[in-house]
Amino acid sequence: MKYDRSYNFSAGPAMMPEAVLEEIRDEMLNYRGSGMCVMEMSHRSAVFQTIVDEAEQDLRDLMQIPDNYKVLFIQGGATLQFSMIPMNLMRNGKAVYIESGAWSKKAVAEAKKVGEVTVISSKDRNYSYIPDCSDLDIPEDTDYVYICENETIHGTTWQKLPNTKGHVLVSDQSSMFLSRPCNVSDYGLIYAGVQKNVGPAGMVVVIIREDLIRDDLENLPVYMQYKTHADAASMYNTPNCWAIYCCGKVFKYLKSLGGLEAMDKINREKAQVMYDFLDQSKMFHGTVEKEVRSLMNVPFVTDSKELDAQVVAATKAAGYDNLKGHKSVGGLRASIYNAMPKEGVEALVEFLKKFEAENS
Ligand code: PMP
Repeated sequence: MKYDRSYNFSAGPAMMPEAVLEEIRDEMLNYRGSGMCVMEMSHRSAVFQTIVDEAEQDLRDLMQIPDNYKVLFIQGGATLQFSMIPMNLMRNGKAVYIESGAWSKKAVAEAKKVGEVTVISSKDRNYSYIPDCSDLDIPEDTDYVYICENETIHGTTWQKLPNTKGHVLVSDQSSMFLSRPCNVSDYGLIYAGVQKNVGPAGMVVVIIREDLIRDDLENLPVYMQYKTHADAASMYNTPNCWAIYCCGKVFKYLKSLGGLEAMDKINREKAQVMYDFLDQSKMFHGTVEKEVRSLMNVPFVTDSKELDAQVVAATKAAGYDNLKGHKSVGGLRASIYNAMPKEGVEALVEFLKKFEAENS
């Protein structure tokens, strides 16, 4: 690879498009004649305001976000949303959570501190499938139904959204944000930590339908209220300026590639290379049900922990980084987000094929 970079299969922070990194490099010392780096710039300056405004508009264009939704750039990562969501959206103190993996499990734990949570889980088979949500028993006064649309650790993706029977749908899209088209009106709230599919760590994008933003939460700490961020257009306090700048560049880059339809096509092709290999391999096996396997995070194992460790070491030595699986699943995990080139996946598969041939 150019610049002697490795193919980095990290679950996040993860690879960024090389063209974007080059642009950032070129603007590093003097951003467009401003005399300073974006890192050094007042967030109240006109130059920075243009950066935020463009970032929001480009994201709106990419996702075709309707006008009755606010786009918020908030700090605290995706994790802060585990708390902000129940604190802001539980009017009746009730929600239904679909626990399809480690990240929705964490969200359940936080929501339980705020209200009554009904949990529908796929824990019985180590989260290798997504529960059937076509006909859930949802009490009328439930405030929302919560899903994690792509489980980063367990490697499952929702192919069809749950039938919420008219209740608000809340989705954690952290590890599949902007990887495929998304009909925003199907949701009340979408959020995504940006360090996987978009930019540097330290920021979450929240897309929230306006009628869900409450103005009767004076007792909630000010930073925890969506209203605070919405009223100030994400500038209540000093935002993560650097992340907004870098994400804005990625939004423009995705537009230039043809938007989310184009990304979906590329991502399907890329994941196919991985899954075609796993489906025919005698040494490596995928760990989740085929219908729900993720296009972004591909966990796979051999039949022995020792062999798993040997493969991880061999891939690392060959320049394929961060393939060790999460401890709860074991084995390996290839995270192949938007910015992972198809050649990276092809090269990894060639390497694994060779490893299998030489070691079986
Ligand atoms: N949700 C999902 C699906 C994730 O993968 C992660 C991070 N890996 C989080 C939430 C937590 O994100 P953060 O570290 O930005 O708080």
